[in-house]
Amino acid sequence: NKQIIFKSFIVGAPKVSDMELKVGSIKLQVPKGSGAVLVKNLYLSCDPYMRGRMREYYGSYIPPFVPGLPLEGFGVFRVIDSDHPDFLPDDLVTGITKWEEYSLINKTEGWRKILSTDVPISYHVGLFGMPGFTSYAGFYEVCSPKKGDFVFVSAASGAVGQLVGQLAKMHGCYVVGSAGSDQKVNLLKNKLGFDDAFNYEEEKDLDAALKRCFPDGIDIYFENVGGAMLDAVLLNMRDHGRIAVCGLVSQHSVSDISGTHNLINLITKKVRMQGFLMSDYLHLFPQFLHQISEYYKQGKIVYIEDMNEGLENAIDAFLGLFSGKNVGKQVIRVAYE
Ligand code: NDP
Repeated sequence: NKQIIFKSFIVGAPKVSDMELKVGSIKLQVPKGSGAVLVKNLYLSCDPYMRGRMREYYGSYIPPFVPGLPLEGFGVFRVIDSDHPDFLPDDLVTGITKWEEYSLINKTEGWRKILSTDVPISYHVGLFGMPGFTSYAGFYEVCSPKKGDFVFVSAASGAVGQLVGQLAKMHGCYVVGSAGSDQKVNLLKNKLGFDDAFNYEEEKDLDAALKRCFPDGIDIYFENVGGAMLDAVLLNMRDHGRIAVCGLVSQHSVSDISGTHNLINLITKKVRMQGFLMSDYLHLFPQFLHQISEYYKQGKIVYIEDMNEGLENAIDAFLGLFSGKNVGKQVIRVAYE
């Protein structure tokens, strides 16, 4: 049973040496009376929040990983054996699993059976999973969008950003995205339907880039990166604008996050800046699933995945999130069905 083991708590950016691929053994049978489920992992999701679980400090909304044990995260898996009444052999399920080929799991909280396979099943960790839901809850519940709003999305081609942009377009907004390569900018403009996009790595002056794209200012900023981008956006917000702070991926490994100079704009322009966790909106999950499935089936939205093959490539795939290597939602295929 191949596994990706978390080695020890980290400071700064995650590195290859913080994790390792190990081969362990596992009994392919669930102990009677354990209530556990044995699963074969098919797809594993790489998500930036996992970086937070690598630090020892636990003041966060989710506990740290345990050194010496496999990483954990969202996945899609097939039940092999079960002592749990709700999950039976052969069921296809999505939920939290471990980074290994086969997992014996005791905690099934939040697991959801996949009943229809008319969409790619890996989408259940992306478009129809946590990142897609974050886009939906963040855009509709936190951004207070109105038709005609000027919307800016950072990390716009990623798992969350790509859907935010498409929802904003369907809502009648003008949407611009930023991303870290020309390839991503091209996808934003030509595949994901953004009105405009720019490669922030090539802009000498982010304020000037935003003024070029939004001569009349920004009503909604869907914040995924933080740092210099947030500072430049603050200069370009319109009166009564909204900033939904979804993530600050540029700050995940930084201990000193001082350096946002333009916060005064929140006061002068009466801007609302609100952080959120998608987990506070889970009551909306059924409505999200229904709505996004409909949009997808009607061809109104598309979703870009970056699929890495095999657990052997899992560490690289995860680290790639922090250098922008992923183009779209980063997924690892552990096994074919
Ligand atoms: P992505 O798929 O967008 O992958 C991360 C991307 O972030 C990279 O591809 C890269 O894109 C960009 N990035 C990485 N490092 C930096 C940096 N130093 N500066 C600027 N950009 C950087 O990730 P997700 O869509 O899954 O997540 C986006 C954000 O949303 C994250 O901050 C995440 O933590 C947050 N999040 C929050 C949730 C919530 O409930 N609040 C739930 C889910 C996610 P590029 O090449 O464009 O720079």
